[in-house]
Amino acid sequence: MRIETLLSKFAIKGINYDPQSGGGKALLSAEEQLVVVGLCWHESPVGWLVLFVEGLRDVHALKQLQIATRGETLRLMEDWRGIYPEKALTALCATAIAEATQQNGQVCPECNGSAIVVDKNRNRRKCQCCKAGRIVWTQETRFAYFAQVLPVTFSRFQRYEKVLNRLVIWLLNNRDIAVIAIDRQIEREKIKAIRFI
Ligand SMILES: [Zn+2]
Repeated sequence: MRIETLLSKFAIKGINYDPQSGGGKALLSAEEQLVVVGLCWHESPVGWLVLFVEGLRDVHALKQLQIATRGETLRLMEDWRGIYPEKALTALCATAIAEATQQNGQVCPECNGSAIVVDKNRNRRKCQCCKAGRIVWTQETRFAYFAQVLPVTFSRFQRYEKVLNRLVIWLLNNRDIAVIAIDRQIEREKIKAIRFI
């Protein structure tokens, strides 16, 4: 099942903020929404944020996810030898989050994800530059994404890539914990439903 469908099944709408309050006060925080449906935020806060960004394109969740990922990046960079600029952290976070929240790849900018393009004679053709409307993640496309923030050489990127890979794994492991929590809750509800028959 798609993660959007799963979240909507639990009526989870993401992190809602009251724009009037100025301070970004949450109307009903993501944590409260999860509690209502019997899910636990504390099991994997980072995992929930990944799901909210992935399934709901939640901008508030994205901001929080960026902060959390930056913390993990700093931790991973502790054994980095040599100097790196502040922007390297931003590039690492942005690329890792992009991959973890769009595992099938980014939406193809040439066909806008439809996998169909129209040629000069107005014939519809299969888009040649993507896979089913997505630009899948490869070392090349990761580098292209990373270089939008920090345009370094490819060989320099390869050093950063080791940290990048660990970051993506960290995000996806957290995501798995949240997905398992959803599965468990669905099972519990099924058992409850059977008891009432
Ligand atoms: Zn395409």
